[in-house]
Amino acid sequence: MPQEDLDAIVAEVARDMRAHLGEGKVADYIPALARVDPRQFGIAVVTCDGRVAVAGDGDTPFSIQSVSKVFTLVLAINRLDEALWKRVGREPSGSRFNSIVQLEQELGIPRNPFINAGALVVTDAVLAGGAPSEAIADIAGFLRRLAMDEAVSIDPEVAASEEATGYRNASLGYFLRAFDNLHSPVPDVLEVYFNQCALRMTCRQLARAGLFLAQDGLDPLNHMQVTSPERTRRINAIMMTCGHYDASGEFAYRVGLPGKSGVGGGILAIAPRRAAIAVWSPGLCEAGNSLVGQLALQRFVALTGWSVF
Ligand code: GLU
Repeated sequence: MPQEDLDAIVAEVARDMRAHLGEGKVADYIPALARVDPRQFGIAVVTCDGRVAVAGDGDTPFSIQSVSKVFTLVLAINRLDEALWKRVGREPSGSRFNSIVQLEQELGIPRNPFINAGALVVTDAVLAGGAPSEAIADIAGFLRRLAMDEAVSIDPEVAASEEATGYRNASLGYFLRAFDNLHSPVPDVLEVYFNQCALRMTCRQLARAGLFLAQDGLDPLNHMQVTSPERTRRINAIMMTCGHYDASGEFAYRVGLPGKSGVGGGILAIAPRRAAIAVWSPGLCEAGNSLVGQLALQRFVALTGWSVF
């Protein structure tokens, strides 16, 4: 698709979203997220052949929250390979993303790497018994390299608030430890997890960072082999089936792309062999996904035909 067409499509999506700005409910479990202006919308598309199109607030940084779980999953799979799947499953959960009951019933093996319990196991694999500060620096450095942008940072206020209010995540952590499914001290795992959730990125940076997922794990622009083609297919499969909390089926139905959302209102979607797309708008639907972000991706796929189905 020529650059002018791509520019016109993202501009049209941003224009169409104006009527919806402010819809949904901004996450309010910590002050730093609660005070974000809900009337914002950004979109960025980075194609496998290096074209970039950005519209709306696509250059405004936001808290990527659970979108970070995709990137830590890549690091953990690269480190543990198949052994990771002895510690975490890959089925949609059908329960709340922070459910404790399900973890009890399933003997400490979280359903998938994108619910909180699963993400804690993944973070533990990244931490690998080392110092939290090093793992946090590794994760942030990984995102900076992928985004090719040193401006990617961690918001210390968000990280501190996550920690101050993260009783449920702490409960999940100790519960996992009781099943011997966390190997580092629980406070260390939580520290890394809270910091990865507090990464601040723009849509442009996020789409750029996710591009390797559209191209067999090989970043087509800087030629970094981030992970293998086989692992890339599997990560995309998990994004498709588990990437949108309890509304992953709905997202697959409406958008038809592998994606991962976070409660900051960001969504990273992958159009295999074509592009990575990031959208952001803070208001969330009941299931915790960006309401306007989902609408925008639905519109974008209708205009481009870039669904995997
Ligand atoms: N920091 C949030 C938590 O773990 C992340 C929520 C999310 O984006 O799903 O509770």
